Amino acid sequence: MVTRKMTSHIPDFPLLTGANRQWLDARAQALDAGNGEATAAVVPYLAEAGLLGHGLADALGGQGGRAGDAIEAIAQVATHSMSAAFAFWGQRVLIEMLANTGNAALRERWLPALLAGEAAGASGLSNIMKFLSGLEALNIRATAREGGGGWLLNGSVPWCTNLRGPRFLAAIAVARDDGAPPMIVALPSDRPGLERSPDLELIALRGTNTAALQLKDVAITEDDLLAERAGGFLPRVRPAFLGMQCGLSIGLARAACAQAASRMGQGGHVLQQPLDDTRSHLEQAVAALKAGVEAGDFVEAPERLFALRLALHDCVQQAMQLELQTAGGRAYSLDADDGFARRWRESAFIPIVTPSVIQLRAELQKLQKLGA
Ligand SMILES: Cc1cc2nc3c(=O)[nH]c(=O)nc-3n(C[C@H](O)[C@H](O)[C@H](O)COP(=O)(O)OP(=O)(O)OC[C@H]3O[C@@H](n4cnc5c(N)ncnc54)[C@H](O)[C@@H]3O)c2cc1C
Repeated sequence: MVTRKMTSHIPDFPLLTGANRQWLDARAQALDAGNGEATAAVVPYLAEAGLLGHGLADALGGQGGRAGDAIEAIAQVATHSMSAAFAFWGQRVLIEMLANTGNAALRERWLPALLAGEAAGASGLSNIMKFLSGLEALNIRATAREGGGGWLLNGSVPWCTNLRGPRFLAAIAVARDDGAPPMIVALPSDRPGLERSPDLELIALRGTNTAALQLKDVAITEDDLLAERAGGFLPRVRPAFLGMQCGLSIGLARAACAQAASRMGQGGHVLQQPLDDTRSHLEQAVAALKAGVEAGDFVEAPERLFALRLALHDCVQQAMQLELQTAGGRAYSLDADDGFARRWRESAFIPIVTPSVIQLRAELQKLQKLGA
């Protein structure tokens, strides 16, 4: 007998209210196109709705709960708008890094404003993730200032999301000229020498405040460090970082499956089973992801997390195909106005966001060879 447990895109424990869902649905198109007030309003709205604090200790100003709740909150937002969920991810990742830094003063300075959505949080850490996979050099260099007292930073971040003005804090990785290991810096938007480009011209996700950063002799001190040794810090925060990023895939796949289910008509005898299989694989991967992040399994065994990210990517591709095929020619019509075209473009982001699908497959191949 076929199990039909997941018949709705709203999972068993909704974290969004009906009003939250309506708010996001009403703005999903504008957020994708980068039109209107939603680009500036979305993160403050998510904060107001209490969504940023899921999975963060009460003592730090969060709602408590487990890491899986943060993943689920991002996934549920992504079901309605991946732009909103991606901005949420940037904000939430920075909150997570502040929760885990040994720099208590930095945390106290920024956490309340980030949780309230008053300041924006961004993570420009693709570069170091690719660096750690041996794919590229670090793009920012730190030179010790003459006479001691901090460093001068020079370089660039080509892509960074949720750089919402007038006040943001961006996590970046820097290489040290003195040969010491790379550091993770939290760079505030008003630091002299830091320049934010205009928003990048994207095919989708245009309302995510995605821009580049240029750094010219930007002065920092130890007060700005999330971690003096990136190598000790990143493996600890990577499971949450990547787990929450997987929320984007989860939400999008759920939304596409729900659309496919709502249209299952004449082709049902062909497509129903693949849809049931996709939903079942998806929710199995979601359960394994949350359990692994919460148990800390992926700190020592990142390859298991990488495999889940790949499985979720596959679910997105299958779900999009099912949505397309159940809609038929209607999917191609601009009149349809059902979000298909938006989700199709959003889905193109899933394989390329760092760590990309090709990067992860290469990592898994490397590990297999080492184990062979
Ligand atoms: C809308 C948007 C928002 C983004 N927001 C952020 C953000 O907030 N923060 C951030 O840090 N980054 C962000 N990025 C960057 C993103 O995460 C990826 O790093 C970026 O898209 C990778 O593209 P690239 O052009 O640098 O890839 P390239 O380096 O040109 O590589 C092309 C592809 O090949 C793969 N590849 C290259 N060399 C190898 C190799 N030797 N082995 C295996 N695979 C390889 C890469 O992973 C990639 O998939 C954003 C990107 C987009 C499009």
